[in-house]
Amino acid sequence: MNLVAGIDLGGTAINYTVLDPDGRFLIETLCEYPARSKEGPDICLRQIVEGLDAAASCAGVSAGDITAIGLDTPGPASADGVLSAEGSTNFVHEQWAGFDIRGGLERLLRKPVVYLNDGNAAALWGHVAIFGPATTATSVSAIIGTGLGGGVITEGRVVKGRKGFGGELGHVLIPYSAIASIDGLIPRCNCGRIGDLESLCSLTAIEQSLLPYFLERYGDHDLARMSSRHDAAKLVRGLAETGDRMCLDIFRVQAHALGLFFDEMINTFDPDALIVGGGALETKEAFQRWFLNEVRAGMPAQRKEQADIPIHVMPNGDTAGARGAAIEAKRHASSVGGKTRVVR
Ligand SMILES: [Zn+2]
Repeated sequence: MNLVAGIDLGGTAINYTVLDPDGRFLIETLCEYPARSKEGPDICLRQIVEGLDAAASCAGVSAGDITAIGLDTPGPASADGVLSAEGSTNFVHEQWAGFDIRGGLERLLRKPVVYLNDGNAAALWGHVAIFGPATTATSVSAIIGTGLGGGVITEGRVVKGRKGFGGELGHVLIPYSAIASIDGLIPRCNCGRIGDLESLCSLTAIEQSLLPYFLERYGDHDLARMSSRHDAAKLVRGLAETGDRMCLDIFRVQAHALGLFFDEMINTFDPDALIVGGGALETKEAFQRWFLNEVRAGMPAQRKEQADIPIHVMPNGDTAGARGAAIEAKRHASSVGGKTRVVR
């Protein structure tokens, strides 16, 4: 049986899935294995291979039946999986600089490996889950996590771009001064820009900008007494869900920032759908609905023809990366038409 596996290498865990020739995922929920990215390429890649064997048994298949692999990791990396020479949060070990992670895994497994960055992989999954595998639709996905990732799918294909930075949506500047009730806020992103999407719509934005800003206005809030702003930021989503006023204000700013960004995307692509995923929306449905309504409220008025654009919550959010990577691998395997690709 020709199976493909999807491998989503995160900061602390590797998430796996297996896709059969009929397009069915053989792992329903999370199948995780500890990641050892910080220990460098040799240890990390062996760990990925070990975890793949475990995932095969989890799916009830033989690892030998897996004929192609889709790998996704956080960037920055080239379209073909060469990690940036400047390093990144997850790849701090010096040997990762400029390392070809796709080629390295391919050599170790002796099976074809295709690469996507994690935002693009999740976007591809969200797109296919909504429109089906044979779609020619266009969608834009925003994944709100520690940073803001995402992807643009046009005519059913991931826009990777010339250097692999297609879909780096977090660093697109937005007209943030249009957001109500943030007078005087200067949202600075780690990339150096002021007022890009990630600087207002991410866990990092909460920690670095929004929480300090709002705590000045809600001085008696419980979170003001916490010594670690990092820990306090992680509590904001849960408190917002329980109706905490300050935390709802913070999430409203994030939603309105996303609304401004989506407005730019609607005018650029006239997409069939917008998709929102990531940790920010791993909440009860009522909160997801509230958030999406606020995203719409933050969008400038749309043309009559476009006002009904659907905004979806990313389905199966925690396995989105692995699933998207598996879909990309399956497409690649089909496009080479069963010809054996030479793996060096
Ligand atoms: Zn940025």
